[in-house]
Amino acid sequence: MAVPESFAQASARAEALRREIALNDELYYILDSPRMEDHEYDAMLRELSAIEEAHPELLTPDSPNMRVRGAPRGEFHKVIHDAPMQSLDNALDKDELAAFFDRAYRSLGENASESWVCEPKIDGLAVSLIYNDGIFEIGSTRGDGHVGEDVTQNIRTIRSLPLRLKHARKGRIEVRGEVCMAREDFAELNRTREESELPLFANPRNAAAGSLRQLDHAITSSRRLKIFLYHVNDAASLGIDAQRDMLRWLENEGLPTQGHDRLCESSDEILTYLDEWGKSRFADSINTDGVVVKLNLLSLREKLGSTSKAPRWAIAFKYPPEEKRAKILNVEISVGRTGRLTPTAVMAPVQLSGTTVQRASLHNQDEIDRKDVRIGDTVWVHKAGEIIPEILRVDLDARPLDSTPFTMPTVCPACGASAVRLPPEVALRCPNRSCPAQLQEELIHFVSRDCMDINGIGEKLIGQLTETGLVKSAADLYDLSPQTLSGLDRMAEKSARNVATAIASSKNRPFYAVLNALGVRNVGKKTARDITSRFRDMDALVAAREDELANLDGVGPTIAASITSHFADPHNMAVVSRLRAAGVRMENDGEEVTESIISETFAGKKMVFTGELSSMSRPDAEAAAEQRGAFTSASVSRKTDVVVAGDNPGSKYNKALSLGVTIWSEAEFLEKLE
Ligand code: NAD
Repeated sequence: MAVPESFAQASARAEALRREIALNDELYYILDSPRMEDHEYDAMLRELSAIEEAHPELLTPDSPNMRVRGAPRGEFHKVIHDAPMQSLDNALDKDELAAFFDRAYRSLGENASESWVCEPKIDGLAVSLIYNDGIFEIGSTRGDGHVGEDVTQNIRTIRSLPLRLKHARKGRIEVRGEVCMAREDFAELNRTREESELPLFANPRNAAAGSLRQLDHAITSSRRLKIFLYHVNDAASLGIDAQRDMLRWLENEGLPTQGHDRLCESSDEILTYLDEWGKSRFADSINTDGVVVKLNLLSLREKLGSTSKAPRWAIAFKYPPEEKRAKILNVEISVGRTGRLTPTAVMAPVQLSGTTVQRASLHNQDEIDRKDVRIGDTVWVHKAGEIIPEILRVDLDARPLDSTPFTMPTVCPACGASAVRLPPEVALRCPNRSCPAQLQEELIHFVSRDCMDINGIGEKLIGQLTETGLVKSAADLYDLSPQTLSGLDRMAEKSARNVATAIASSKNRPFYAVLNALGVRNVGKKTARDITSRFRDMDALVAAREDELANLDGVGPTIAASITSHFADPHNMAVVSRLRAAGVRMENDGEEVTESIISETFAGKKMVFTGELSSMSRPDAEAAAEQRGAFTSASVSRKTDVVVAGDNPGSKYNKALSLGVTIWSEAEFLEKLE
């Protein structure tokens, strides 16, 4: 990194960098809304370090390189940490990692052959938890490392966290770990925020931080946070002398750990782990942006010590950000279920974080203008939180001469109605309630697997049904006879019968699936499950007061408001009445009320489903297991208790075999459900 030659220039540059870093720290740590990519920010830090190294007089005690950044927000009570909560130094490539080991081995001397533990670096925010006499008492954020924010109530809403340790113990125990958000939950949160015109979170870490640092813990509860612990403070007093034992101790106490740690005896083994995790990390539901390598033996850590900012016995290896260039071929306008017009960039295919990306939302006109994206441009793309394709910036050098700025249409591309923009909303909406595109989206959602699961009705058939006017609302599906269906173009009699049977059997879908199918804003599959498990039937739900709903686990004020306003609309209530009249189930049969069926076989088990099940859909199987107290996850790790394997199981099955995880067949699973 080039350091200015003259002292005056170096001093001015250092001052500018400090100011810019302080500004971005505030946006990131206090407001949870960064405006810069992490690697750009890290580059500024590194430039400042280089200047400070060349001109030690410029290294001030408050340099961002000297301290843990972040500060407790005034609205929270403050918690003084028992021992400082430090940050980690990071290595951006294998050379920097080698330099770290050189330094460590030099200090370790004769212990230079010691083993290291590799753990995925969870993309979340650090928290400290105090258990007193085995009971969870205080939860706090890292803050500036010495003083954090008291977020006890919010941490209590994280369902996977036991509020009591498994083995009763006298005295105070502090454990530390990371609060984070699963990729899918992050994507779903941003989807619903976009619908509600709220600013989007940049990545799962900001989403987790923004959700944990809420004054209203009902909001936190609605955000489905996860927690993984990786550290026990003063572990020696519990007879723990190594990192690996610390992780096993945490698990033994029922505290969630991430479960992908590995003990490595040499730097070659560490490099192998980095390569392996670099590939498999995309399959994990939790975003990990690197690997933390920690000296295993705690006694040796003292030999290496710490700086004021980070320990010298650990390093965070960060995977390079995946950014690729792609050409914008077109901008398409899609009409959502609620009439929102969303511009989507269609790009030449590009491989990113394990999948092929061809489309990225441009959100609205403001965003298009801000990024100045034009058709024909070459842009840099990445996946926010390794899941949501996002255009970062235009490569202006590659801009064609004839490019013209893109402007949103003034009418709905599907029905021609004049699009409206209702301030303060930024988005344009199609106000026409019978807009075919809205109906199409509504129906695609209605028949989908997590909703009414109507096999045989795909986008094409929906198109035919709406174009012919046979279906004007989801409820019309239940009036379709095999005869009417077979009258459609290219519809054989047998297919028509199958579709009619699928429609009929969807009447027995569980209550949560029906609620999900109604398309209430901000209510997805998981929220629908949370809500319906608390109500006997649709009438009870429709009659629920907003404050009553807002107090439910997993709901919160925004969702509560969406539900009450959905049912206050006569048009929506008419759909409910017609579905009911058609015989669609709108109540729990007792089986589904969560508390009543927690079973010993399932409670606390971490389960993964793979392959096709013949008796039920995968979401239903997961729901059945969850209702009995199990946690379901998408990937198999050493911590998985059971894998349920249906027909044609994939790689998860092989992984379960290699890890020795218990495997149930579908028949065994059904037997246990009974
Ligand atoms: P960090 O995130 O680079 O690493 C330290 C943290 O890793 C720990 O505090 C802990 O919370 C976490 N961690 C996750 N898994 C862990 C595990 N298994 N074991 C131990 N720790 C684990 O450091 P930081 O100080 O929290 O944040 C600095 C980073 O934040 C910078 O590198 C930068 O990328 C980002 N940042 C970005 C902006 C921006 O504007 N984009 C601004 C400020 C900071």
